[in-house]
Amino acid sequence: MTEKLMVWIVGILIGASVGASAKGYALVRDGKATSCIVLMDDAGPVEKHAASELSAYLEKITGARVETVSSPAAGKYSIYIGTIETKAILLDTQMRASAAKVGEEGYMLAADAGGLRIVGRKPIGVLYGIYGLLRRYANVRWFFPGAEGEYCPKKATFAVPAGVSMVNPSFSTRTLNLVCANINSNMTDTWDWMVRNGMEITTPKQSRQRLHPEEREKRGDENVGGGHAFSYLISDNLFDEHPEYFALMDGKRMKQEGQARQPCTSNPTVVEIMTQKLLEWSEIPPRGGTFLIGNNDSPGWCQCENCTRLDPPAEKEKSFVSTRYWTLLNEMAEKALAQNSDLKLEGWAYQNFQEPPVGIVPDKRFAVWACLHQRCYRHRMNDENCPSNRRFREDILLKWVKLNPTYTYEYTDCLPGGDVIYLPLEHVFADDLKYYHKIGVRGSLTETAPPDGVFGPTWNNRRTREMWLATWQFVYMMAYFLWDVDADYNTVYEDMGSKFYGVAWPAMKQYRGKLTKAYEETPGEMIYGTPNIALGKCPDRPGLDADLLKLLDDAEKAAGGNDALLKKIRREREYLDLSWRKMHEEYVAKSKLEVGASKRVGKVNVDGQLNEEDWKKADFITGFIAQKGDKADPQTFVRILYDNDNLFFGVESLEAQPEKMKTLATKRDGPLWTDNGVEFFIAAPIGNGKYLHLIVNSKGVCYDSTATGTGPAADVGFDSGADVKTAALPDRWVVEVRIPTSALGTTIKDGEVWKLNVARNRVLTDGTSQGSSLCDGAYHGVEAFRSVAFGGKGLIRNGDFEDVQKPSEWKQKTKWKFETDAAPASWSFHDYAGEAALLDGGAASGKKYLRIKSVSNTALAVIYQPVNLQAADSLLVRAKVRGKGVVRAVMFLYDPKTHRHLGSPSFGEELKVDSPNWTPFEAEYSHDGKALLSLALYFTSTEGIDIDDVTVVRGKKI
Ligand SMILES: [Zn+2]
Ligand SMILES: [Zn+2]
Repeated sequence: MTEKLMVWIVGILIGASVGASAKGYALVRDGKATSCIVLMDDAGPVEKHAASELSAYLEKITGARVETVSSPAAGKYSIYIGTIETKAILLDTQMRASAAKVGEEGYMLAADAGGLRIVGRKPIGVLYGIYGLLRRYANVRWFFPGAEGEYCPKKATFAVPAGVSMVNPSFSTRTLNLVCANINSNMTDTWDWMVRNGMEITTPKQSRQRLHPEEREKRGDENVGGGHAFSYLISDNLFDEHPEYFALMDGKRMKQEGQARQPCTSNPTVVEIMTQKLLEWSEIPPRGGTFLIGNNDSPGWCQCENCTRLDPPAEKEKSFVSTRYWTLLNEMAEKALAQNSDLKLEGWAYQNFQEPPVGIVPDKRFAVWACLHQRCYRHRMNDENCPSNRRFREDILLKWVKLNPTYTYEYTDCLPGGDVIYLPLEHVFADDLKYYHKIGVRGSLTETAPPDGVFGPTWNNRRTREMWLATWQFVYMMAYFLWDVDADYNTVYEDMGSKFYGVAWPAMKQYRGKLTKAYEETPGEMIYGTPNIALGKCPDRPGLDADLLKLLDDAEKAAGGNDALLKKIRREREYLDLSWRKMHEEYVAKSKLEVGASKRVGKVNVDGQLNEEDWKKADFITGFIAQKGDKADPQTFVRILYDNDNLFFGVESLEAQPEKMKTLATKRDGPLWTDNGVEFFIAAPIGNGKYLHLIVNSKGVCYDSTATGTGPAADVGFDSGADVKTAALPDRWVVEVRIPTSALGTTIKDGEVWKLNVARNRVLTDGTSQGSSLCDGAYHGVEAFRSVAFGGKGLIRNGDFEDVQKPSEWKQKTKWKFETDAAPASWSFHDYAGEAALLDGGAASGKKYLRIKSVSNTALAVIYQPVNLQAADSLLVRAKVRGKGVVRAVMFLYDPKTHRHLGSPSFGEELKVDSPNWTPFEAEYSHDGKALLSLALYFTSTEGIDIDDVTVVRGKKI
């Protein structure tokens, strides 16, 4: 027995007599230190840091200073810190059995009369053990980097129960890519946060020696290298002597020029040079490390014969280079790993090589980062209905996990926000981690900006500086579930919220819940690069804005005079303003007048509930204007669904006093227009100005008739067959309606554009009365109605020229003269130049019409736009024109694969226009389904032709 071990055993005997109690072993009792931290003399920097963290937190929690010693002290309970291999830390049989199960980064806590042992397989596991102990027995939490993010309750006695527990992280790789900050930033707050929450810090090997090496080393950083690394692995300096090492692009060899393109990776000498450089890197001390062999950041790959020969036909067709990339990586790995087995290698699934190669099998020794550009963060990865995520799941993740250890590389920093990115991503992503774990993904990281980073001019803005703070709940949950994937989401969420928001949590929980629901249920995808304005759609839900603000008020009230808590709530309010509310304003200002109706997938029960999935996915249409021209208050929200034979409306009318709603009419077709209710106006394209008029009061009694022009035809005997159900809720009333299209003598074809209006009569028993509608307060008259495209997207868009954009926002205007500072959205103006003006007043449909002039009596002025139709069908193009000149319809045809122009057949008869009144223009086109179509309209007129109400429907002239 060595002398040192003797001392230890004596120490244990001494320890046996102290600290024990019914509540376990006290490290501190009643504010007095009853323990000491025992750290070996030969402990490394990470274990030393672990001891100093434990000592600092024990003092913060209890006020007592627990000494760190190198051997047990008499009368003190011992806290042993070290790796499992540390001989001086004695483990009994049970502890030994547990210790054997501790993985690479796991730890074991074992307390008995002989002391508390905090041991890990590696030093980093010891550090994780300290934090695990503080979380479990002192309820310490680190929600985000810095003092404000720390939750550290005080208590006078800190005790640990007797027993052994062993903890391993669920995922082997758990980290963040700290983007935007200068590489020399001293980010100790962020590094602390990461290790305290079980994440790994990585440091590029070359910078490690220069940049705060002790700060990184003591937090167990790992050596990494690579990334966009081809330029590092082979230098452009070789170009003059050996142009053949570099890419052949359009017949010419070209340097990489940083990240512009790849070298010629099929050249064996290139492979040799890159491998040698990789080995050179691995020899930079400390030897080894993990190198990610990633391409230069460009999809430009060498076009030489030897390179392209590597692309299997299936990849060639899609311009993929997976096989080429993995051929290079396999060759490099073969040579490099034979010479240095300490080297760890990674590749990535990126750009045009996201999918696994079909030509070869990647070397198993590579871990693979699946880079999830284009994944959707509104929906869960296993959401069957999200097309982006289906692609990632099926074509990328599920294939890669079968081949190599796979990690996901996420881009939550590239999502829409406003001045800040304020998105409730935590629930979606926690569920994703559970799914990832189930399918065998081994790790994950996302990009985010560290709050204590130093930012250069490009990045020194609020969006970057506060990126973490505005989404801290998500980053915290990500770290949590990477460590413990089996944890119950609601339990962890409740723990996080109640500790952070304290007495304000009940209100904040509801607030966050509403925010999350709106985020997750708004239609559309949320992917890398989705524009900010897309976020503006989320708040577009009945009552949401008022609810959110009220809950924040409630939270502030609950906080009382607690300034620290008020600051937290006010920050959320500010983020809400800077992102959701700001983007909503922009969204409303820019939203299209033409709206989309979705086709129902499931069954829709007309029960006044609007709870089917189809309703959840439908867009809200709002912005009701009162008859006097002001924005209506309270507002009304409409959703529209359809199938080929039915039109469904879900209308939510916000009403703070539903008990006062006046509903006197009890008989069908009675005077419903004097009651509290809504009115529907529906014009099918075949109607020639005739439309269906349905009024429903808030008790569900109906009036239906047909109408023309600006008033109802007294067609009261008419029965629409509408199915109607209303419901009164505390803050609104709801009507759900199904109208069979047979009432209009037609069916709905996908891609058709109909004209609709919804109006609301708010009539209360106290005399309050307000009429409002979707169409600027107007009720009757097809000209005023809004266009609704069935299937979300019409065959063409903006045929009534109501949606406007500035000509300056628009790229191909070169030869055209715009007399007004407005051009119609969705339409393109062809090189055949002319003059255009978008004019108000006297329109055939809506408010605006387009005036076109050609530059001479023989010249053509041409406008065009794509037609959304791929299958063979007949198309009926109609428009209203007036003025003097000639107009005709032409179809531009394009090859669906190459987009090559195939021809421009005229169709229908050209029309000689010579009238100040709107005249119908009609032309029929028979499509064989083989080409992509653009509808073009050709004008010859020096005096000007006005055009409006262009519609394209599937079908033939009647
Ligand atoms: Zn080549
Ligand atoms: Zn999605």
